[in-house]
Amino acid sequence: MKFQVIIIGGGLAGLTAGLSLQKKGVSCAIISSGENALHFSSGSFSGDCPEEVVPLFAEAGVVLKGNPAKDSWRFTPSGSMQKVRLAFEDVTLYEEDKIKASKVLIANPEGFIDFPTAFIADGLSQQGVSCKVKSFSLPCLKTLRESPSEMRSVGIAKKLDCRINEVAGAIHKLLDGEDLVVLPQVFGLTSPEPVRALRDAVPAEISFIGTMPPSVPGIRVQMQLKKAFEKAGGTFLMGDTAVSAEISDGTVRFIRTRNLDSHILTADNYILASGTFFSKGLSSTMQKIYEPLFGLDVDCPTERTQWYSEDVFAPQPYMAAGVVTDADLHPLKDGQPVTNLFAAGSILAGEKNAGMALTSTFKVVKKIAL
Ligand SMILES: Cc1cc2nc3c(=O)[nH]c(=O)nc-3n(C[C@H](O)[C@H](O)[C@H](O)COP(=O)(O)OP(=O)(O)OC[C@H]3O[C@@H](n4cnc5c(N)ncnc54)[C@H](O)[C@@H]3O)c2cc1C
Repeated sequence: MKFQVIIIGGGLAGLTAGLSLQKKGVSCAIISSGENALHFSSGSFSGDCPEEVVPLFAEAGVVLKGNPAKDSWRFTPSGSMQKVRLAFEDVTLYEEDKIKASKVLIANPEGFIDFPTAFIADGLSQQGVSCKVKSFSLPCLKTLRESPSEMRSVGIAKKLDCRINEVAGAIHKLLDGEDLVVLPQVFGLTSPEPVRALRDAVPAEISFIGTMPPSVPGIRVQMQLKKAFEKAGGTFLMGDTAVSAEISDGTVRFIRTRNLDSHILTADNYILASGTFFSKGLSSTMQKIYEPLFGLDVDCPTERTQWYSEDVFAPQPYMAAGVVTDADLHPLKDGQPVTNLFAAGSILAGEKNAGMALTSTFKVVKKIAL
């Protein structure tokens, strides 16, 4: 099978590259093994973001709030304020590192333990904001509560997304003059409509705050981007893994995947967007950190004792590991650039955040589709 571009990895970088290229008329295939960092997303993007991302995501139905070039602040589940650039529409953004509310209701579905209400209440108290924590119970959650493995963010969203009026009614009963309601991100699994409907139905600002993974808004955004990519004509090889590649004379010749092992996949250009250790874009043995698909050069300390700091709160050097590239984002193999291969996203050596993933992705897109 032949494409103009083959992208390895269907996370934020791979999907953004695929969607952007497809919209420019470049035929792409994305090979995507499985879960990616979006499934664990806080709902916001840190780091400098390229401005092109806002209109591109809007075409896929993903509303991004904030300013790609200027910091805003969001309230986090640990009760602190965090600087971010862009956020999904679930998140409330502030211009300064202070929440704008005088009285807050923290409302949690009864029995949901993946939402740290005590941290949130403590953080609000430290800002001098009066708050109360209350739980609400709906009959539809009774069966979930009987099994701790079911009473998770995604399971709750599946039950509540079609019962927004009931949720709004339950919150109404708890309200006592509060101007902000804090809710866990357990709404809007397949569409942002339940988030919007709840905001419309409750007479106070609502801020949806991250839960323990999986991330409901992150899964939704991943699905929206995948759908938009396919609608634009892209091929998404879901649940498949690129297992081997042939490189000769500084050029990728073909790729083999686990599911299509009798076929080779070829393209004019390839984009490696396979993420970091978390997504298996990088691997390690006791002796070395390596990039498993192409055997590319990796920037990381050679001595294992230098991979980590014993101070668990200090930056951990292994987290900055990634592939080395030339100025055009062609990865190096044995010191030489692979000329039809690009790297984008957190597989790159250095700082890892969504801003960096998106900036490198748009740079690669511009190199491929001039
Ligand atoms: C758990 C976690 C949460 C994060 N949350 C945030 C956040 O809230 N905000 C923020 O700014 N940054 C966050 N980050 C930083 C994150 O790196 C970036 O935001 C960004 O999402 C990374 O996207 P990516 O596409 O480069 O990699 P990933 O999201 O890791 O995606 C890589 C994909 O490639 C696939 N893959 C790997 N190897 C192969 C192969 N051989 N064949 C086929 N597919 C393959 C993986 O299965 C995965 O789906 C988070 C990082 C992690 C690890």
